[in-house]
Amino acid sequence: IPIEERLNSNAWDVSQRPHIRIIDPDKCRKCEAKPCTHLCPARCYTLSPDGTVLFSHEGCLECGTCRIVCPHNAIEWTYPRSGYGVQYRFG
Ligand code: SF4
Repeated sequence: IPIEERLNSNAWDVSQRPHIRIIDPDKCRKCEAKPCTHLCPARCYTLSPDGTVLFSHEGCLECGTCRIVCPHNAIEWTYPRSGYGVQYRFG
């Protein structure tokens, strides 16, 4: 089953207040590897043409990968507020 199909099985209740935040966008712009843009399974991090890392928390799976792989500690990461975030429907 393709990953997109599996992701579509989940449900999200997304808070207005993102649980993940890029602390210093300038660090991300200068970061050569930008691992978040390659390793986030939900593709929450994208690269704009000017090299800025854009983040969207709506499809976040709360896996914690971005927090671990960021070489510059540029990501502030907390779990979503109670009742919000992803609900896994099939495991
Ligand atoms: Fe992506 Fe996982 Fe980070 Fe959420 S916690 S933004 S799914 S890498």
